[in-house]
Amino acid sequence: MKPKVVLYHPVPQALRDELSTHFVVSTFSKITDDNRAEFINAALEADGLIGMGLPIKTEELRGAKRLRVITTISTGYDAFDVAELTANKVVLMNLYDPLTETTADLAFALIMAAGRRIAELDRRMRNGEWQKHVSTPWFGLDIHGKTLGIVGLGRIGAAIARRGNLGCGMSILYTARSPKPEAEQKYGARRCELDELLAQSDYVCLALPLSAETKHLIGARELKLMKPTGILVNIARGSVVDEPALIQALQHGTIHAAGLDVYETEPLPTDSPLLQLDNVVLAPHIGSATTQTRDAMAMYAGESLIKFLLHGEARNVVNPEVLA
Ligand code: NAP
Repeated sequence: MKPKVVLYHPVPQALRDELSTHFVVSTFSKITDDNRAEFINAALEADGLIGMGLPIKTEELRGAKRLRVITTISTGYDAFDVAELTANKVVLMNLYDPLTETTADLAFALIMAAGRRIAELDRRMRNGEWQKHVSTPWFGLDIHGKTLGIVGLGRIGAAIARRGNLGCGMSILYTARSPKPEAEQKYGARRCELDELLAQSDYVCLALPLSAETKHLIGARELKLMKPTGILVNIARGSVVDEPALIQALQHGTIHAAGLDVYETEPLPTDSPLLQLDNVVLAPHIGSATTQTRDAMAMYAGESLIKFLLHGEARNVVNPEVLA
């Protein structure tokens, strides 16, 4: 009998065909209040799940008897209660490479846009405000030659460091749990404490996972440590930053500007004060959102699921204890 799989995210037709060859597939393009119970029932009967994040609480999968694996079409896995999955002997696999460079591109777009005020000045032009030669009030800040502090120098962080150092001649500071000799050698990156990174950097870019340890890592105290000309870019997860504290810092000029791809609540509520601020560039969580990369991510996650359920081969396992 073919294993049962639940697919709960839009993926390329080629992957849908491939999954159907090997598995009995229940497909949900979106989980809503109307189909939530149906989705949970299908998940409880399945051998494997594939989608982006998890649209239900992990504990709602507790009664699943056959469930062996979930592959998430993302690198972040903060939507899952990993301990709960481990206790229930469910393997969680995430993504490795397909989105690293694309997300680093977006981080750099935010650095550039926030530094040079691209979104704000675009709005001003559309409002008919460009009446004479641009002078000081519309000037921005340089990017080249400045100091870029990267909080979390993993895959994406290193790709941002490469762009900053080799592309723009920036000096790189970083924090991570362990030293990164390759980035130190290739990009002259220097590891330091977070407080020093915040105080010394012109641009601070967050590129670390959300966890109990990193939740609200950047709050009012940390924002005060930044230069008044400092720019904060967050492509990690919204809750790594205390968002109300960031809003205050942007409103009061504690920091100069921000470039954000991620928020504490997504989609960003339409009454968020962030939407009223000129000194923040907002992107709707599009770090990996190019067609080429999203397709590659789905194909990679699908391949992981197939390899695991058909051949017992596991890759990018978040909770390897289950396999031990
Ligand atoms: P990664 O390769 O696992 O790198 C994470 C880095 O963060 C590592 O260098 C790690 O240090 C460091 N780190 C972890 N906990 C830390 C802590 N408490 N203090 C300081 N550093 C810490 O992950 P990645 O692929 O670069 O992705 C990073 C995050 O970006 C993901 O978890 C995800 O949430 C987010 N992301 C967002 C988007 C988007 O669309 N905006 C797209 C992809 C990913 P060690 O190496 O020393 O362990």
